[in-house]
Amino acid sequence: MPDFPIRRTIRLIGAPTDVNSSFLRGPALGPAAIRKALASDHANGTAEIGGAYGLYARLNDVGDLPLTEDTAHDDRLIAEAAARAIAAGEMPFFLGGDHAIAFPAAAAVAKACGPLNILHFDAHPDIYEAFEGNPRSHASPFARIMEAGIARRLVQVGIRTLNPHQAAQAERFGVEIVRMLDFAPDTVPVLDGPLYISFDLDGLDPSVAPGVSHHEPGGLTVREVLAVLSRQTAAVAGADIVEFNPTRDINDMTATVAAKLVREIAALAARNAG
Ligand code: MN
Ligand code: MN
Repeated sequence: MPDFPIRRTIRLIGAPTDVNSSFLRGPALGPAAIRKALASDHANGTAEIGGAYGLYARLNDVGDLPLTEDTAHDDRLIAEAAARAIAAGEMPFFLGGDHAIAFPAAAAVAKACGPLNILHFDAHPDIYEAFEGNPRSHASPFARIMEAGIARRLVQVGIRTLNPHQAAQAERFGVEIVRMLDFAPDTVPVLDGPLYISFDLDGLDPSVAPGVSHHEPGGLTVREVLAVLSRQTAAVAGADIVEFNPTRDINDMTATVAAKLVREIAALAARNAG
């Protein structure tokens, strides 16, 4: 392979927890399954976004955080890991884990880089005040993010489960929701930096990503996701990919999609690097 200059090093940080999942456990197994798919010989490791820029992103996998089931403790480990990556000049990219990890991850990135513009892919808005009595539920991270003032803009893509409570929360927080019913790639705003990408795999249609806890039909295709991502031009400050539940996967389909999205988001970060 030619010796390409590295424009961006992406630090992969495993966050193996599902303690804040509401319906099924399993996402704690996600990081290991994504790594296995990333290492598979079935693909050559390139990315579509930015053409050869896929080759200009180095993935530095630092392994899994030793998370417990104590969320306050785990939040500290996640925040410290993000801060260490940024201090080393690397972009933190968390492999979840349930979506609750997005709150400490994005908070730490915002602390280092300033208020974020967040591009959030999901079937669900995840802005419940609390879900089943848990304010740190995986159904609530974006309520916590908006309350903490760490996002200037939160744009949600793939949404198809907006109920009255969450619609009221979105209004209160000024969340910009691109409903799946109205979706086309060019309806998604192109955001300024620093950009944080939070990718819940259930934003995809369950026919392409069955390995999630909450199957919600009528979702995004991989092609539509790549169209949204490739239009983004801002510097990427951090990212997560969450909610992969390997116990529900079929023939490693979701693992393969998750690995592709890790490569594509890494390539986007390399392409958009200053
Ligand atoms: Mn979801
Ligand atoms: Mn989610």
